Amino acid sequence: MQLARHKTKIVCTIGPASRAESVIKKLIKSGMNVARLNFSHGTPEEHREDIRRIHSIAARLNRFVSILIDLPGPKIRVGKLQDEPLVLKKGDNVILTAEDILGTASRIPINYTGLPQSVSKGSLIYLNDGFLQLRVEEVSGDEVRCKVIIGGPLLSQKGLNLPRSKLFMDAVTGKDLDFVDFGLEEGVDIFSISFIERASDILKVKEFARKRGKSVYIVAKIERAEAARNIDEILDVADAIMIARGDLGVQIRIEDVPAIQKKLIRKANLLGRPVITATQMLESMTENIRPSRAEVTDVANAILDGTDAVMLSEETAIGKYPVETVKMMARIAMSIERQRSAVKWSWDLEEYFRDGVGQKNVSAEDVVSLNVIEAARALNVRLIVTPTHTGSTPRRISRFKPDCWILSFSNHEPTYRFLAFSYGVYPFLVKNTVDDWHDAIMKHIKGLRLAKKGDRVILTEGRSPGQFGDADSLRITTVS
Ligand code: PGA
Ligand code: MN
Repeated sequence: MQLARHKTKIVCTIGPASRAESVIKKLIKSGMNVARLNFSHGTPEEHREDIRRIHSIAARLNRFVSILIDLPGPKIRVGKLQDEPLVLKKGDNVILTAEDILGTASRIPINYTGLPQSVSKGSLIYLNDGFLQLRVEEVSGDEVRCKVIIGGPLLSQKGLNLPRSKLFMDAVTGKDLDFVDFGLEEGVDIFSISFIERASDILKVKEFARKRGKSVYIVAKIERAEAARNIDEILDVADAIMIARGDLGVQIRIEDVPAIQKKLIRKANLLGRPVITATQMLESMTENIRPSRAEVTDVANAILDGTDAVMLSEETAIGKYPVETVKMMARIAMSIERQRSAVKWSWDLEEYFRDGVGQKNVSAEDVVSLNVIEAARALNVRLIVTPTHTGSTPRRISRFKPDCWILSFSNHEPTYRFLAFSYGVYPFLVKNTVDDWHDAIMKHIKGLRLAKKGDRVILTEGRSPGQFGDADSLRITTVS
């Protein structure tokens, strides 16, 4: 068995450009770790097909791919347009309506009946991540008449942002909860929620699943100023976060996005929560076979910031070169990961925990993870092996971004699936706990040729030997 040549996880949004079996296959082979299904688009039948197709192809290829269902939340969207793209020209008058019509250059449907209450004369409305801009001229009854300030092409289902207006919508809608039900029925238990504001939005979904006797992983999409402000309470209850730069870059000042990205990644790293950096990472590859230098640098910098995963949206959903884009992502990751130390990626995460030892905020697992990292570096270790029940041990080690792979062994399938999001973690699903798992795991690793005689391996150990629990010690062994 061969481990990937990059440890950064790649999340690909599946869409018309990538749904076909032949493309999915190539995406998996090129480095896709997580397939993101955007439930803002498509029909339930299509989603069901996508889920089954991806699961079956991954199984056939003997590769491990997780599925992430992206819940639309209170995302305001343009409805269906008659001709696409619909080109809006500067100075044009256009009416926004909640009526269910086919959109034209003079009347555009949107999915939010509260728009006339949310805006007033002079309000700015952004379309398609802010590429198009409208100014409200007049609100009359159910319709909003606007002037186009910045024109451009518009596609059906594109987002609409009202950065400084009040929204009359719940962060988690009834439709979102229906999608959760749908996902659980199809065996998907990892969901991202759009436009959340606070911890209670996440708890609402978790509670909903719990009432059905299920448990879910929630990726909180940080794309509103309120969410960025409430990041601490959100990280308390979210399983992972996504820095959703598309909407975030309209909801807050675009020039503030880089600093927020770095702050969010650091906060997630401190807690050992996976973090996905998303949107426009290789945007120009939607049309071109080569990315811009700025994009390549953006991907590399996000990895240096400490992101676990990088995400592709339109690039793989509707782009011309989905497979080439994933290959490019993998190449960039591979290159920068190798040079992490050479470019003096000398952040102070390790320092933080070392200084905090003995204080309340540092747990036994934190200390173990720090020791693992230090031992791995000092002894030029080949692999880190972590048996785990919840995934907490491999995640805590992963946040330090070690040069070697972390092989995690779990007998809990949801844990296994969610570890797809963590940097440098390769999860294995094992059937049962064994008496001497050390022995069993070492045999397994040797059998897969992941280590050879003489290689040093670090194993973490749980409270009771033979069980998959939180680690409180480590063992350094040499493969014999
Ligand atoms: P979206 O989320 O693609 O669902 O809008 C990501 C983002 O806003 O960046
Ligand atoms: Mn968004």
